[in-house]
Amino acid sequence: SEVITINLDTPLYKGSISLNTGLFINGEFVRPQESQDAGKIDIINPSTSKPITSVHLGSSLDVDIAVDAARKAFKSTWGLHVPGSVRGQKLQRLAELIEENLEEIAALEALNCVASLILGKPFAQAKQELNMACITTLKYYAGWADKIHGKTIETNETKMAYTRREPYGVVGAIIPWNNPLAGLAWKVGPAVAAGNTIVLKPSEFTPLSALRVASLINEAGFPPGVINIVNGYGPTVGASLASHPLIAKIAFTGSTITGRKIQEAAAKSNLKVVTLELGGKSPNIIFDDADLEQAIKWAGIGIFANMGQACCAGSRIFVQEGIYDAFIQGFTAVAQHLQANTGDSFSSPNTLHGPQASEAQYKRILSYISSGISEGAHVQTGGEKHSDGEGYFIKPTIFTNVTPSMKIAQEEIFGPVAAVIKFKTEEEVIEMANNTTYGLACAVFTENISRGIRVAHAIEAGTAWINTYNTIENGVPFGGYKQSGIGRELGEYALEK
Ligand code: NAD
Repeated sequence: SEVITINLDTPLYKGSISLNTGLFINGEFVRPQESQDAGKIDIINPSTSKPITSVHLGSSLDVDIAVDAARKAFKSTWGLHVPGSVRGQKLQRLAELIEENLEEIAALEALNCVASLILGKPFAQAKQELNMACITTLKYYAGWADKIHGKTIETNETKMAYTRREPYGVVGAIIPWNNPLAGLAWKVGPAVAAGNTIVLKPSEFTPLSALRVASLINEAGFPPGVINIVNGYGPTVGASLASHPLIAKIAFTGSTITGRKIQEAAAKSNLKVVTLELGGKSPNIIFDDADLEQAIKWAGIGIFANMGQACCAGSRIFVQEGIYDAFIQGFTAVAQHLQANTGDSFSSPNTLHGPQASEAQYKRILSYISSGISEGAHVQTGGEKHSDGEGYFIKPTIFTNVTPSMKIAQEEIFGPVAAVIKFKTEEEVIEMANNTTYGLACAVFTENISRGIRVAHAIEAGTAWINTYNTIENGVPFGGYKQSGIGRELGEYALEK
C-alpha cells in the first residue's frame, strides 16, 4: 500500500490530507495481487479536469481474497457470534470517527465530486451531506443492531415455532459516484448491523473519501475482514462481486443497464439475493393551487441539487396551465441565479453550482441537451457548457415546449436539465407522469391535501413527496418501482433486505 498527501490551500479549506491508495482487505491496506495488477487510475478534480492523485485498482483475485477474509470474519469474530449491542457500538464509533474528521473527509469529497441533495455552497454542503446521509445513517443502524428480533408463532397447543433474523454471511456492495459516502453508509450500516460482513466497491471515479473512511475502520474496533473496500472497475471488480459463489447477497446502486448485468450475474452464479437502486425520471407535478414560491424553490432543489446528479432528481416538471407562466418566470430566475454563482467547491462561500462529476457525464449531458434542441424543445435558459475554461461546468438548463415522447422527457440525463411539460387536468398528468419505464420518486405541489394524497398514490413511484422534494430520512424507506429498482434501502426495510 502507499500513502499520499493531498495539500489543499483554498479560501475555504486549508490542510494536508493523508490517504492510503491501496485496497482495504482484512483490516489492512494492501497492494493488488501482482499477477493481475490492473495498475492505477487517475482520480480527477472535476473543477479543473486535472488529476488529484491516483489509486490502486483491484482484480477478481483481490475480490477472492477479500471475500475469504469476510467469510472468516463472519464465522469467527462477527455474525451472531457477537452480540448486537457490540456490533452497534462499533458502527457508532465509526460514525463518531467520521464526525471527528468531518472537515477533512468532506473536503476530500468536495474535491472529487460535489455531493449534496440541497442547493448551494458546495463545500459547506459536502459537510452537511456527510453528516445527514452518512454519519447519522451509521448511527441509525448502530441503534438497530441490538433490536433485530424474530417472532414466536402460535401453531397449536403442543407445538411452538419461532423465527430468527439470521445474517446472510458475506454481502457484496457496489456504489456509484454521485454521493460516495451516502452510498457507503447506506450499504455498510444495515449489512453490518445485522451481522453480515461486507466487500464494498466504490465507483472508480470517486474512491477517495471511502479510502479515508477505511483508515478509521480498525480504530472503530471492527475485527479484520468485517468491512473490506476494494477499488476497481465495474467489469472486473464489480462483475466478480456479482458472480462470486461465496457472496450471499449483493446490494447495488447505479444505472439500470448495470443493474440488469448484476441480476444476470447473480442468476448465473449462485442465485444470490439482489437489491438494486437504479435510475429515475421522476415527475414533479405542480398544480394551479400550489404555493408558487414553495413550488419554485423545491423544483429548483429537485433538479439542480448536486448538479442534477441525483437518482431521484425531479427531471420532468409538469405544470398546470393556470400557474405555468408565473412558475416558468420564477423557475428561470432560480436557474439563472445558479448560473451566475457557478464555480469550484472551495473558491468562494457564494458559489451555488459546481461541476459535473466526470468528463464522461459532462459529455453525456451536453449530448442530451443537443438532442432536446434537435427534437424541437425550447431552451428557456442554459442549454450549454458554462464557459471555455477548465472543469466540467454546465449551465442549469430549463427546456420548455417539451413533449412526453422526446428523449429528454424519457431518458435519465443525470444532469442539471429540467424538461417542463404543461398540463390541463389531473387525469392527464397522472397518465403522463406514469408513462416511463422508471418509478423512483415523484412530488405533488398543491394546497388541496386530498388531491395531493390522491395523486401521490396514483403515481407509480417508491417515494412520493407532497410540497417538498429530495427530503430523505434514515427511518423512511427509499427505492424504486418498475425499472428503478428492487428492494428498499434505509429504515427498517433495509434490515429486512
Ligand atoms: P454505473 O451503473 O455505471 O456504475 C455504478 C457502479 O457499478 C460503479 O461502481 C461501477 O464501477 C459498477 N459497475 C459498472 N459496470 C459493472 C458491471 N458490469 N458489473 C458490476 N459492477 C459494475 O452507474 P453510475 O454512472 O456510476 O451512476 C449513475 C447511475 O446510478 C444513475 O443511473 C443513477 O440514477 C443511479 N443511482 C441510483 C440511486 C438510487 O438509489 N436509486 C442512487 C444514486 C445513483
